[in-house]
Amino acid sequence: MNTLTHYIAGERHAGTGERFGDVYNPAVGAVVARVPLATDRDVDAAVAAGRRAFPAWADTPPLKRARILFRFKELLTQHQQALAELISSEHGKLVPDALGEVTRGLEVVEFACGIPHLLKGEYSPQVGSDIDSYSLRQPLGVVAGITPFNFPAMVPMWMFPVALACGNCFVLKPSERDPSAALLLAELLAEAGLPAGVFNVVHGDKQAVDALLRHPDVAALSFVGSTPIARYIYQTGAEHGKRIQALGGAKNHLVVMPDADVDQAVEALIGAAYGSAGERCMAISVAVAVGDVADTLVARLAERARQLKIGSGSQSGAEMGPLVTRQHLERVRGYIAAGVEAGAQLVVDGREYRHPQGADGFYLGASLFDHVTPEMTIYREEIFGPVLCVLRVDDFEQAVALINRHEFANGVSLFTRSGGAAREFSQRIQVGMVGINVPLPVPMAFHSFGGWKASLFGDHAMHGPEGIRFYTRIKTVTSRWPDTLSAEFAMPTMK
Ligand code: NAD
Repeated sequence: MNTLTHYIAGERHAGTGERFGDVYNPAVGAVVARVPLATDRDVDAAVAAGRRAFPAWADTPPLKRARILFRFKELLTQHQQALAELISSEHGKLVPDALGEVTRGLEVVEFACGIPHLLKGEYSPQVGSDIDSYSLRQPLGVVAGITPFNFPAMVPMWMFPVALACGNCFVLKPSERDPSAALLLAELLAEAGLPAGVFNVVHGDKQAVDALLRHPDVAALSFVGSTPIARYIYQTGAEHGKRIQALGGAKNHLVVMPDADVDQAVEALIGAAYGSAGERCMAISVAVAVGDVADTLVARLAERARQLKIGSGSQSGAEMGPLVTRQHLERVRGYIAAGVEAGAQLVVDGREYRHPQGADGFYLGASLFDHVTPEMTIYREEIFGPVLCVLRVDDFEQAVALINRHEFANGVSLFTRSGGAAREFSQRIQVGMVGINVPLPVPMAFHSFGGWKASLFGDHAMHGPEGIRFYTRIKTVTSRWPDTLSAEFAMPTMK
């Protein structure tokens, strides 16, 4: 049994607590590691390490910081297969899918390597006679990241490359369900030349999160996870005077217009609904069939869903792996039962799936519901599993109204051949990330990622320009070099 450690001040750290969490390999349903759950003292040690490292790191020229990130990017590329296999072994997702997540994270590192350019300020000569003014952005101090199980490498990399490039020190509290990737990332950062204490990892649960939220030396906190916790983080962090960005849950719709290419829409839906077993914040969990496209769409989806190849993360040809834990598996099964109870038509029942070798992993087949209505829990709540709900509407207007009424507003997609409909949709839809004939509209690293409404609490999305703004604060300097200066009692104005 592998017992994991925290990573504080450049060293592995056993921690001072007596509580541990179990880490499973979801493909076999067995515990593979124990993760220490941090005490307040452990969190304090990590924050203190960041605080000690901060002055020198903040003072390091941005180009030097970028060079360390360039080396980190090279190391990430060298170790991407090992990292992907590690992710798959604790999360259950397919290795090629895990490689995709590593690449997405690596792209944020590439973005952050441009930090000397990204931190350039603004300068205005002669804002008044012989007076110049300039603005610069400075780092915040020690910042923390709290991340979910579903992207154990990518989501931390939405945060720390930008935070570090801006000159902050970072404390990462990864998901306790798949914590090993964070440790490998910490070691690669150290190998790349990052000074000790600039990046720290503390494992844990609510206790560790609360310690970070209350800690007076944590200036800002980035969170990604479920909506109730995101709301809690936002409120509690604000009470403690911290800058917060808290990304929450999702219920992403894909609208299929009557003029859409149905084959393309089906392929898009199958990948986006069942890829990573639906455990993606940008997974499509609702198909909105507009007009007479519904019957054909459901029939073809059902055919594809029944043929889905299910297997362990390393099985070649597999299209979907197991769910992350038995508890989560039972939760998703509960939603399927609730959908049937509420009167939705269960066209494909993933609960019937049996693993051919009888593996005791957390497997569930693909499920497809038709005739789902907006009042049903399977529509209102995030299931976060391989369950696709089809809702039928008469026209474009009804589709837009339906989506705009939903509590969540992370991603959305429209499949159509009409440029006019696409433009209208992009303008009027109240969702943060929009795809046109693109099923997973995940913004690239140099744009910013974030939803609206109950999918994001705070003012800033992640990475891209928003990430730079979140991890820095603005300072504006007004200067003159006068020969004489006399007191002014009226409010100074431009002369
Ligand atoms: P989660 O909310 O259970 O956990 C997220 C983090 O919060 C973990 O580090 C966990 O240890 C911590 N946590 C859990 N309970 C807590 C509590 N009571 N108090 C304080 N901290 C607590 O989420 P998860 O199950 O790990 O991840 C899945 C969720 O994340 C889904 O809702 C998914 O939509 C969401 N997600 C959103 C995005 C996005 O960009 N909006 C991206 C990925 C995942």
